[in-house]
Amino acid sequence: MNKNFIPVSEPYLRDLEREFLIDAFDSGWISAAGPYNKKLEDEFSKFCGVHYGSTVSNGTVAIHLAVRAMDLKKGDEVIVPNFNGIYGPYALLYEGIIPVPVEAESDTWNIDPELIEEKITNKTKAIMVTHLYGHPCDMDRIQALADKYNLLIIEDAAEAHGAEYKSRKAGSLGHISTFSMYANKIMTSGEGGLITTNNEKYYEKIEYLKNQCFSLKGPRNFIHEDLGYNYRYTNLQAAIAYAQFLQLDDLNKKRIEVNNKYRKALAEIDGITFQVNKEYAKNVFWMSSILIEKDKTGFSRNDLEEHLLKNNIQTRRLFVGLHRQPVIKKYGINIIEKFHISDHLTDNGLYLPTSPQLKDCEIDRIANQIKILYSKY
Ligand SMILES: *Cc1c(COP(=O)(O)O)cnc(C)c1O
Repeated sequence: MNKNFIPVSEPYLRDLEREFLIDAFDSGWISAAGPYNKKLEDEFSKFCGVHYGSTVSNGTVAIHLAVRAMDLKKGDEVIVPNFNGIYGPYALLYEGIIPVPVEAESDTWNIDPELIEEKITNKTKAIMVTHLYGHPCDMDRIQALADKYNLLIIEDAAEAHGAEYKSRKAGSLGHISTFSMYANKIMTSGEGGLITTNNEKYYEKIEYLKNQCFSLKGPRNFIHEDLGYNYRYTNLQAAIAYAQFLQLDDLNKKRIEVNNKYRKALAEIDGITFQVNKEYAKNVFWMSSILIEKDKTGFSRNDLEEHLLKNNIQTRRLFVGLHRQPVIKKYGINIIEKFHISDHLTDNGLYLPTSPQLKDCEIDRIANQIKILYSKY
């Protein structure tokens, strides 16, 4: 790869990850039944402030297990953020559950709590929230609705390891919470997922389902009473993730610094706005995302994307609203409502390179290229 190329995201793996990985390898424990899995589950759940943690193969199946553990059924409805990755809705569609989208807030880009209540019907069983790009949702307002209508909360914290809502950690804000450890996520092992919960029953069901529904009692007799999965996570992966977890505060500090530097460097450009950091939240800025207001900058998001790539700087567009996903229609869900805020984010947003190890000179180079484009218009 061209050494001038700045990728949008790179994992930051150092000596500790290598040390633990080699230790796991040398120990012979390469399956899920190894000590790093347990260490990660115990310590990560404690870090989040809950009793139980369960590692799984990735963040998508983590949500699927949450849905199964809650016993949500075909025809049930679950409120979801319209502006989000497709992964949570996938987990619902696996079970024939209907995702009911709610528009985003224009500043946090998260699900708008104000608009949830009108979507609740007698089929609604749960609210799914996603802390987008590291900014926690306004959970008190969502919790109040869940209490009022007796709904469960699935917290998709895939982008928010270590983020806080009113000093409470992401991973403790739902009945079941899920994390991803994909290569571009805040802590990673290439692929991977984590589930946290305070509920013993959910925890036991998740362990049972992810482990092919082997009978938990007595000897392994190969009799299966329920439909299970192999959603296990290997000890080799857990070794890397455990090392990342021990350095999570540092990794987050570096991402927040990257965001602050971008803000400073781009402050003079009228028409570029960043995701906010509300007073109730500690946003860990998984990605430094920006919106381009073309009537002010003169250039569009697509112009900027193209210009940066020409100069060896990779960016990525923001998510596409559920109402624009062909798969939703294919599965018989007809969304007729308009989602102007989601559309605005999808069509005008992108995220800039945001690896923890991004150097000051690289941030300067990126900011300068944006200024060069700005000066042309
Ligand atoms: C990455 C991500 C997931 C899915 O995680 P995978 O590990 O890629 O399966 C789920 N939800 C959100 C919000 C994500 O960003």
